[in-house]
Amino acid sequence: MNALVQQILDTGFTQTIDGRPVATQFEDVINPATGAPFHRSPVATAEELDAAVAAARRAQPAWAALSWDEREALINRLADAMEANAEYLSTLNTMEQGMIVAESAMLLAGAVVSLRIIAKVRAPARVLADTATNRVTETWCPLGVVGAIAPWNAPVILGMQKVVTALIGGNTIVLKPSELTPLGTLEIGRIAREILPPGVFNVIGGGREVGAALVAHRVVDKVSFTGSTATGIHIARQSSEFLRPVTLELGGNDAAILLPDGSIDAMVSETLRVGLANRGQFCAAIKRIYVPSALHDEVCEKLVAAAAPIRLGDGLEPGTDMGPIQNKAQFDKICGFVEEARAAGGKILIGGEPLAGEGYFYPPTVVAGLRDGVRLVDEEQFGPVVPVIAYDDLDAVIDAINAGPYGLTGSVWTADLEKGAQVAARLTIGTGWVNQHGAFDPLYPFPLIKDSGMGTDWADHGVKGTMRLQVVNARKPVAA
Ligand code: NAD
Repeated sequence: MNALVQQILDTGFTQTIDGRPVATQFEDVINPATGAPFHRSPVATAEELDAAVAAARRAQPAWAALSWDEREALINRLADAMEANAEYLSTLNTMEQGMIVAESAMLLAGAVVSLRIIAKVRAPARVLADTATNRVTETWCPLGVVGAIAPWNAPVILGMQKVVTALIGGNTIVLKPSELTPLGTLEIGRIAREILPPGVFNVIGGGREVGAALVAHRVVDKVSFTGSTATGIHIARQSSEFLRPVTLELGGNDAAILLPDGSIDAMVSETLRVGLANRGQFCAAIKRIYVPSALHDEVCEKLVAAAAPIRLGDGLEPGTDMGPIQNKAQFDKICGFVEEARAAGGKILIGGEPLAGEGYFYPPTVVAGLRDGVRLVDEEQFGPVVPVIAYDDLDAVIDAINAGPYGLTGSVWTADLEKGAQVAARLTIGTGWVNQHGAFDPLYPFPLIKDSGMGTDWADHGVKGTMRLQVVNARKPVAA
């Protein structure tokens, strides 16, 4: 057995509360490649949650008193330490999340880069007016304690983006990863104990109940959540009782629209990268493809040819291109969506049946012949299943997309850059891409609208979302 796998199996995972390891109650963590438990994760008791939030509160003033540069330097040390442990953390991520180890390594590298980029953000005070009589300044102040909740699809990068966004502005944080994929984040909490002052970065385990208790905790000043729209709405309702700010990163049903002059090859290859090969389990994966009727068959043929060589298997095994679906509920949802699409007249061009045997394996699947009105087109499948929808009227496609509930991202494929940008701008989405999809970059803001969320993540917008603005309007003393 791989030595790292053995090391992981031998590790006793702990929460990080006030810079110390804490673990009193546990629950199983399942390896989706086998469908069987492979480890135990601590789950926060009510007292442990209180202790984590209280530690964050105590640590916050001293953390905020550091300069931006000092905080950036400490965050960069954490990024370095994550990088030094990349192989271990990537192996662990694959064991609990299911993605192939190369994807785990890529996302870990993405988390490290996110830490370094977002830690460079500054929100300096500004003088708004300095007249003969008055001086008016605006200052960004940290909100205090951020309660953060992350999902299972990309646990480390999504959790750590919340951490750096909160910390660089002078907040402290209590982070709860998903109960389905807690271990990698717990380990980063352990690594951070050697680097960050106690209480600045707390990581607790647990599921819905712990998340709900964190959201409802009176000491938490801001909630940052990534997950499903249903949970996000619940959290927004709960937070409104305390008028507590929230940032919600929720689901999406992102479309790729091919225009008649767009590159089919480029779009197919991007669909493979952010739609099929990563099992479709990304908020902004390509979840439906609109193509001109005249190009429909060619697109389908090329998608099938691209999907055919993908080898499914345990993400730790060399030669595997695609791991299992992360959990049973998601696996069942994908099976249900495809069955419904088939019954509605959808033509399954490749895939369409789960693999028999242990684990939650679902092959890359391409479905043609569908229109709006089936869940595979209208809702978020979050799986390696892409519907290809033929169109003759671009305006009708844009209207249909805008009429849907989501508004996360989308892409337009065309040789005409101006036209592509115009079509993207007509979509009611936070981020539009032209001739690319899933080009994530925390240098740029990531707006969250409609059922896809609330607020803006990344860049200075994200950091300012964890801060409050204060204006001081000072009348100058009149000379005697
Ligand atoms: P989920 O809502 O089931 O769970 C997310 C987290 O919330 C978990 O940590 C869970 O324990 C916790 N939770 C569950 N119920 C809660 C409650 N009542 N109060 C507080 N916390 C609670 O979501 P999921 O299935 O883990 O994540 C998949 C979803 O996340 C997909 O819809 C995907 O599109 C979305 N997502 C969005 C983005 C984005 O940036 N917009 C990024 C990644 C994932």
